[in-house]
Amino acid sequence: MPVVRTASDGFRWPHDYASSPAIRPHKSSVWRRLSSLSLTTAFSGICCPPTAAHMAVAGFAPDVGSKMDLHYHNSIEWSNECNAELYSLPTPPVCRHQDIAAFLTTETKDLLKSFGPDPTLKELEYAILRRPGALNLVAPCLNHRDESGQPKLCPYIRSLIHVAGPPCTDFSKNGSEQKLLGKTTIHLLCWIALLRDLRIPIILAENVEAWHWQYVASWLPMYDCDSTVLRNVTHGFPVERTRRFTIFVLKDSYELSRPLGGPLGIEASLSRQMDSSHSYLDYMIAKPAELDMELLWASTRDGCSSLSPLSTSDQHAFERSLVPYERKHLSGHRRDAPGVAYTMSQNPDRRACHGKRRILHTLTAGQHLIFVDPLNRWASARELLSFQGFPVYNEWLTALCADQPYPCCSFNFSRLSMGLTPRDRRHMTVQAGNSMHTGVVGAALVWILAFCHERAAPVPRALQQHGASAASTESASSSGSIGPTRDSTMLVPYVESGASTVSASKRCREIHNESLSFSCLFNSMSSSKKRRVCSSNPPMAALPIDNGSDGSLGPPIRLTDGSDGNASCLVSLSSIGSCSPSGSSNSSARVGFDSLFKRMSGSRRNADTPVSSSFAKRQRLS
Ligand SMILES: [Zn+2]
Repeated sequence: MPVVRTASDGFRWPHDYASSPAIRPHKSSVWRRLSSLSLTTAFSGICCPPTAAHMAVAGFAPDVGSKMDLHYHNSIEWSNECNAELYSLPTPPVCRHQDIAAFLTTETKDLLKSFGPDPTLKELEYAILRRPGALNLVAPCLNHRDESGQPKLCPYIRSLIHVAGPPCTDFSKNGSEQKLLGKTTIHLLCWIALLRDLRIPIILAENVEAWHWQYVASWLPMYDCDSTVLRNVTHGFPVERTRRFTIFVLKDSYELSRPLGGPLGIEASLSRQMDSSHSYLDYMIAKPAELDMELLWASTRDGCSSLSPLSTSDQHAFERSLVPYERKHLSGHRRDAPGVAYTMSQNPDRRACHGKRRILHTLTAGQHLIFVDPLNRWASARELLSFQGFPVYNEWLTALCADQPYPCCSFNFSRLSMGLTPRDRRHMTVQAGNSMHTGVVGAALVWILAFCHERAAPVPRALQQHGASAASTESASSSGSIGPTRDSTMLVPYVESGASTVSASKRCREIHNESLSFSCLFNSMSSSKKRRVCSSNPPMAALPIDNGSDGSLGPPIRLTDGSDGNASCLVSLSSIGSCSPSGSSNSSARVGFDSLFKRMSGSRRNADTPVSSSFAKRQRLS
């Protein structure tokens, strides 16, 4: 087990994970998938997941770390300040959405309004999860504007991996503990509905230990689910944080070959031992100039007794800059637990909130100041971010990648230089308290990249439904259901997103989670049931869905009915490739396929740019 002796060792987690016995055999495949990761996020705050991904690269291929080709498609983040950080990332999201409820259709929003100010869980479930078409898969984007200058409606892309920290206040001990009756439930349900409609292959959710992951899983029956609790301290970080990590893996596409928990799990395999000499104090490396800025902020506040700005030249400056309630809290904390760190927003007479001698207690959004008694000062805003594993100092970047340090997080860039408002310590403090830890999210990401594999192509459902033998492709072909791979030249216009592997496992999906074999769908174009969904509601526009250079999914296309952006079904090109209208003796299949193909071709021609250049264009715009 690697030993963590210094904070720099703490930041070298990618190297330790990469050389662990569990990951080492998969190092090259992790690197291959990591180097061009296809990612989307929701509720990710200052965006730990892409930061962790950028950092992880250092452990797998340090010489090419800065060349990582991250495909970060969409983010959904409520906070303006966090959105500014998302904009400042080394690889910002192509599209940034602010409100997950903006994905709801007008009809759904009206229905929710009709329930009054306090809808019940059943009402919310009915409106968002039980009703077909409750969501659009497009929403206003902060990065793009239409001709009239309004936020453009941009699609949420089906990435390979989606990482989210759904709102936790209703499940947190520090929050309301109302659980599913809380105010954030509506956002949780929107998130579930969005994922269910998109069918993102791999979803990683981070939340507090009490999070109702089983409830979420009950709405995602098409996913296999595994959940575990990870602790910062076990991974060699001297800051308490216990969080539940849950992975949802799309059943018919991917599988998790090694469990998240237990003796073979993440914590058992990627843990690191903290040396007895190492403590959270090793992370406190702010230089006098930075601390003087903290003092300037503090000593100019109303209520501060200092008559002039204080500086670090005065060894009691931090204490002297406190306002009355902070002084009271500090003396109470010191009385109860001398020589450790304290959360200054908490009144010790009501609630003890302090760390241990070597371990800092859990950071929270409302912490205000973390006063560190042994140093007789509070932690600077950047130090708080360091406690969450953000490489905000050059020292941490150098520890991560000594030969060629490269930027990993938004805080490695100046917001001012990007035309944004400058950062302030108040927001950074809240962000640090809300964030996940990069090294722990990194462990979960590395685990996914090492042990989430594409499944071997399953037996197409059409074969099963028609009673044909799984192995008897030929007999299926002669019956017109399944044939040899179709001439791929017809598919060329749709294969520009870079993915190439043809797999027969993908099926046409109707938005309401029924799934059909693609070939079965077209054979049944005349049947009233299928027609209702696919013929009388003709697919008009195709939205590209990227699944990364992994390529293993094949490039699916989302077909929309063109009126309100609601998807009517999902079609993977690879499944088109596996259906053979040309080799089919069934003319209705041929007609169905060709007419759909023409509609798709037409809509593609009408689209302004092909998939790849559209992506590149958006990337440039952002
Ligand atoms: Zn956009």
